[in-house]
Amino acid sequence: NSLTKTFHSLRPPVHLPPEDTPLSATEYAFSLRANSPWPDSVALINSLTGQRIFYSDFIRKTNSLAAYLQKVIKLSKNDVAFVLSPNSVQVPILYFSLLSLGIIVSPANPVSTESEISRLIQLSKPVIAFATSSTVHKLPRLKYQTVLIDSPEFDSVMTSSKHQLDPVRVSQSDLAAIMYSSGTTGKVKGVMLTHRNLIAQVAISWGSRQQQQQRESPAAMLFTMPYFHIYGFYYCVRSVALSEVAVVMERSELKKMLRAVEEFKVTHVALTPPVVVVALSKDDLTKGYDLSSLEGVVCGSAPLGKDSIVAFMARFPKVVFVQAYGLTESTAGISLTEGPEESKHWGSVGRLSWGLEAKIVDPETGYVLPPLNHGELWIRGPIVMKGYIGDAKATGETLLKDGWMRTGDLCYIDKDGFVYVVDRLKELIKFKGFQVAPAELEQLLLSHPEIADAAVVPYPDEEAGEVPMAFVVRQLQSRSRLINEAEIMNFVAKQVAPYKKIRRVEFVNSIPKSPAGKILRKDLIKIAVPSRL
Ligand code: AMP
Repeated sequence: NSLTKTFHSLRPPVHLPPEDTPLSATEYAFSLRANSPWPDSVALINSLTGQRIFYSDFIRKTNSLAAYLQKVIKLSKNDVAFVLSPNSVQVPILYFSLLSLGIIVSPANPVSTESEISRLIQLSKPVIAFATSSTVHKLPRLKYQTVLIDSPEFDSVMTSSKHQLDPVRVSQSDLAAIMYSSGTTGKVKGVMLTHRNLIAQVAISWGSRQQQQQRESPAAMLFTMPYFHIYGFYYCVRSVALSEVAVVMERSELKKMLRAVEEFKVTHVALTPPVVVVALSKDDLTKGYDLSSLEGVVCGSAPLGKDSIVAFMARFPKVVFVQAYGLTESTAGISLTEGPEESKHWGSVGRLSWGLEAKIVDPETGYVLPPLNHGELWIRGPIVMKGYIGDAKATGETLLKDGWMRTGDLCYIDKDGFVYVVDRLKELIKFKGFQVAPAELEQLLLSHPEIADAAVVPYPDEEAGEVPMAFVVRQLQSRSRLINEAEIMNFVAKQVAPYKKIRRVEFVNSIPKSPAGKILRKDLIKIAVPSRL
């Protein structure tokens, strides 16, 4: 019976506010922050300039901006705000203001192209866009207003808006964010996350922090992960709830990162991709930096083998190494390793977070398997998204009966409750932790008159984790010269954000397909990487 095959989290319970209490993610994080042992402490540091913003000021700025958005710009609950910005100290203040008003935050990767942005905007239908002087030119000309968050005007609005904020009643079931992900199939979709999703995820972190030894001073987290990705979005709310210092970096460059750790006494770093962990394990790269403040390193987005972890632990014996696993659709973390002992479960992404149930399902037959078997991981719990905006079909394929969500990942759970991600079932490529949807690149390739058919698959890469590789069938035509690899790569590169570029091309006579016309990607991956045969 399938019930006996449902796996429940083994983590100790955490307190979640009653579901029907009106509560925004902002109110929740601020209320936890108010209970911290530090009456006031640093909330944000701009790693470039060293500028510090204390929590008292952070809260003041959040409210001042909210009053301006409500009274002057006349934004109201359930409006959607598009955000196109690299990491900066303004972004968390903007997010907290918008969330406090029940305005739905929809952040996108600032390196996206104009046509990519137009598609995202069609999905989320924003009434306002927040951009910077470096990203604003990419926004399509629309009826809505655009606000520059790196302008002196924005700064003065945050400092004092002179308006009185009317309290807004936000229900936990209200939408908090629309994040972009291609999910288990096809093109990019808008993932709807509620305030409840964020509150549950933050409550889990807060609960596990309470169970650990109390800190003497606030933790300092280096924000190299982008605020537009669920990883950075959720960590932004979490860091306030836990009264952490967020050291904000615009780019995750290794040397600048090491300098920031030394200069701002960073205690925690979240890293992606795994190669950064490998790099950190090498003496010659870290020599000359004082990294003694480091207490914990979180690594997500791709699995790390035993060798990398052992090398890292040997180099930093006092640093706790955490492997984490999650999806945009699960408001980030589903599981993580907690404490040094759990890290030694090499290759595991840790135990399921509190409040989660899991099933391992045979992807072919749909039968529930005993957790030790390999199958698709399904999860259920308070962090599961509400669905994909305006896409009932994709929602129905991912969110199933009784609240279960398919992850699209092939996993197993061992007898001690540790989750292992074995492979990806879904059509997704992850370049340095960023999502690339094969279907999107295939559509572009097929729009070229000299390409008859095409398929895109992940190709393993030491630095990026995976790179997009195209299999191309050339159009047979009268021309004596056929399209070449460089032309194909350029054709795509001109139309997509840099992380989506095709970096390998192989020409074939036909694309293997199932009788129903579905591309047999696994067959192509085997051609590309024979070792996976
Ligand atoms: P995203 O929605 O961009 O966070 O991508 C989610 C996907 O990234 C998951 O479904 C996995 O395929 C992959 N992923 C995330 N974390 C890990 C991890 N620790 N190990 C293996 N794959 C991961």
